[in-house]
Amino acid sequence: MCLTLIVLFYCSLSFLEIQELCYNRNNNNYGKEGSDVEFDPILNGLEDIYGKMCNEQRLNRKDGLQLLQTTNVLGLGYLANERRHALTGDQVFFNNNAHINYSNVCKVRCGLCAFGKDLGDKGSYTMSIEEVVAKAVQFAAQGVTEIHIVGGIHPELPFSYYLDMIRKIKERAPQVSLKAFTAAEYDFFAQMEKVSIVEILTTFKDAGLSFIPGGGAENFSPRVREIICPGKLSGKRWLEIHRSAHQMGIPTNANMLYGLIETDEELIDHLLALRGLQDETQGFYALIPTAFHPQNTKFEEVPQASALRTLKVIAVARLILDNFRYIKAYWVSTSPQVAQMALTFGANDLDGVVREEKIYHTAGATSPQMQSEQQLIQMIHELGLEAVERDTYYHVLKTIRP
Ligand code: SF4
Repeated sequence: MCLTLIVLFYCSLSFLEIQELCYNRNNNNYGKEGSDVEFDPILNGLEDIYGKMCNEQRLNRKDGLQLLQTTNVLGLGYLANERRHALTGDQVFFNNNAHINYSNVCKVRCGLCAFGKDLGDKGSYTMSIEEVVAKAVQFAAQGVTEIHIVGGIHPELPFSYYLDMIRKIKERAPQVSLKAFTAAEYDFFAQMEKVSIVEILTTFKDAGLSFIPGGGAENFSPRVREIICPGKLSGKRWLEIHRSAHQMGIPTNANMLYGLIETDEELIDHLLALRGLQDETQGFYALIPTAFHPQNTKFEEVPQASALRTLKVIAVARLILDNFRYIKAYWVSTSPQVAQMALTFGANDLDGVVREEKIYHTAGATSPQMQSEQQLIQMIHELGLEAVERDTYYHVLKTIRP
């Protein structure tokens, strides 16, 4: 109920009113006779940060922590919403995408993961290349424009399995963008083939790779990784691989896991590391904050992140990542209801239709298996915003106005 009121409040603020606030802030008009102080209380405790935003000063680590720990949630959302609007106006993006998880067999077995299984375990599976290609062709026939392909770190599959998969999908469904394999998988391929990461990425780019998803980033803190995924590549290596991809002209996304054991400082440091790399390369498209789902993991006792924590994390990400254009509200991880609210806390992308997601659902996500295009449009229109179907590179395919 309380969150509904928050959403309604933001929707009642027009862009002109927001600009007027900035004007008043810049001209120190608050409290002066005749000045419009109507919305002043919303900034309570966040005036200095708002002042920095109005003066186009970059927010720092201390600001990030202050925002994450503020009890003025309404003010935080207001600032993030203003920033979102300044970047992409009334547009909220989604795409017609599908997931293929080719295998859940994984030799790394991170504590945070409910998806990975040992080879031969009950419930373990590995799709043949033909099965993967047939599924991709079926998705393409349904109008899917992007296929997201990730799996575990399989102990036995040969390198040719992965490469042939990409080549064959590209042959049979050339119109579809392939967003394939996380940095953890590319790191594994480079080790398997004993070649550099640049060589591996070049091979996949030539085979038809379009884009690299943001998975494997979790939280870059060595302390956090040692506890939740000690066998996975380091945060430093993740950043190196994404740097290489950007330098080769392969765009990527970045994930951020929250709601597990990370401190507020570690969460902000993760964002700052991404902002630093983006300053260098401009190769990131979107940040995807993903809430930890404890069911069937080694951390089942950890309570799931609240809706409020999700909204705060998304808003802080929007404000700290001043060089990222898109922040996703990934409805699979947060629930469609919270994702919709996040569109007023700085998010401007709902991800997509997401046919056949397995990773979050294995960890107990109660969100539906997919959202129809019509459901996504309705979620956006209820906020008075424009639904924009995009391709992988954020080219506008169609705009549906409320
Ligand atoms: S998160 Fe990835 S690397 Fe870790 S166990 Fe799961 S599938 Fe394997």
